[in-house]
Amino acid sequence: MAKRIVILPGDGIGQEVTREARRLLEDVAAAIGEQFDLDEALIGGSAYEQTGSPLPEETVEKCLQADAVLLGAVGGPKWDNLPGHLRPEAGLLAIRKRLNVFANLRPIRTWPGLMLASPLKPELLEGVDMLIVRELTGGLYFGQPKARVEDGNAVVDTLYYTRQEIERVVRQAFELAQGRRKKLTSVDKANVLESSRMWREIVNELAGEYPDVAVDHVLVDNAAMQLVTRPSSFDVLVTENMFGDILSDEAAVLTGSIGMLPSASIGAGGPGLYEPVHGSAPDIAGTGVANPLATFLSVAMLLRHSLNLGEVASEIEAAVLGVIEQGVRTRDLAGTSNDWVGTEEMSRLVREDVQGRLNR
Ligand code: NAD
Repeated sequence: MAKRIVILPGDGIGQEVTREARRLLEDVAAAIGEQFDLDEALIGGSAYEQTGSPLPEETVEKCLQADAVLLGAVGGPKWDNLPGHLRPEAGLLAIRKRLNVFANLRPIRTWPGLMLASPLKPELLEGVDMLIVRELTGGLYFGQPKARVEDGNAVVDTLYYTRQEIERVVRQAFELAQGRRKKLTSVDKANVLESSRMWREIVNELAGEYPDVAVDHVLVDNAAMQLVTRPSSFDVLVTENMFGDILSDEAAVLTGSIGMLPSASIGAGGPGLYEPVHGSAPDIAGTGVANPLATFLSVAMLLRHSLNLGEVASEIEAAVLGVIEQGVRTRDLAGTSNDWVGTEEMSRLVREDVQGRLNR
């Protein structure tokens, strides 16, 4: 049966990078003799313009019936003054919740030749290759109550987790660690927060089921420091929603190139949601200079985690590496050099390389 993939281009450069990702998926399908049923749906500001909602129900229905969902990016200044529930970002939070994708995976690695774009010294970046697993649908961002109280003179947000919510994401992280260097760092604030103490207990309980994985616990403030002082020491890092939000953005700047960072959000059995880490980049939207590689690497994650095509995924990653090693750059990676290619040309070069690898 054809695999169903729904593409949600969204806003700004989201539309440009997903156009190229669609081409990549079409090329891959042809090369490996599989059929992908590619569909598109609305999300974000463009969905609001056409339907009055940043996440129309029709989009949710399509996504729920898919094997995987690829999202570009949402947002833009045009919608900044809308009430919270109508803003493009509300569509993003809602689709994650509706798909019940509770684990957000962000691989962070350094790319040869791109280290100068990083704020860190090259010797610190050598060998950085980590995977941050962030709990995505619970904790402080979703707990109730969340309100102004006492006539607006006080405020409450709620950090609420069930045992099951913690267990499922930690289990996911253990399993991912087993497929990598078998090291898991759990990040919490167990010296202050009760939720963190329960988190730590659960990690220790589950550790018994994964004896091949070495586990350590690091307090979040310490983890924030270690990410910049010895980033290569991390393999898989697992943490709750808000800590993960902050640490994954911190780790993102290590590599110096937001245009190279993919992400995956996966749940239990339903379709996974794959998206570049970057936003809709209104400053360059429509100019044809967006870097499509974060989205290509997200496609690789989609093939690996939702379509069980890990080998094809590795070929895409190898092609991206190959093109970077040849010195091809999009503008965001070129520094002060004028020697760079646009979105379509970068896409063409990588896709050509992928074709060559898959047809070998
Ligand atoms: P951004 O990631 O869109 O852009 C930050 C900077 O990086 C900009 O200078 C941009 O030109 C550059 N950049 C980003 N992606 C690039 C790419 N692929 N190639 C080349 N350059 C790239 O973040 P922002 O400017 O803070 O936010 C812009 C809009 O995007 C806002 O509305 C924000 O809410 C939204 N946003 C959406 C998501 C998402 O959809 N997941 C994530 C972050 C921000």
